[in-house]
Amino acid sequence: MPIYEYVCQSCKQTFETIRPFSQADAPINCPNCGYLDAKRQISLVNAVSSGKSLTGGSSSCGTCQSGNCGSCGHS
Ligand SMILES: [Zn+2]
Repeated sequence: MPIYEYVCQSCKQTFETIRPFSQADAPINCPNCGYLDAKRQISLVNAVSSGKSLTGGSSSCGTCQSGNCGSCGHS
């Protein structure tokens, strides 16, 4: 199951929880204050790394930016 990161809207505590994808946006209690108002965060680390791959970081193709070369025919 994926790990999701949440931030409590009350005390600003961030915490990670492993839960099914189907429950990613379900309400969750803050383990710090117990307030049921934690919001799921989009991981900044993942956002940065995926942005790099779009500009050719981990892609072997310098022609297209799709990550797979089916669209440009580059091998
Ligand atoms: Zn809290």
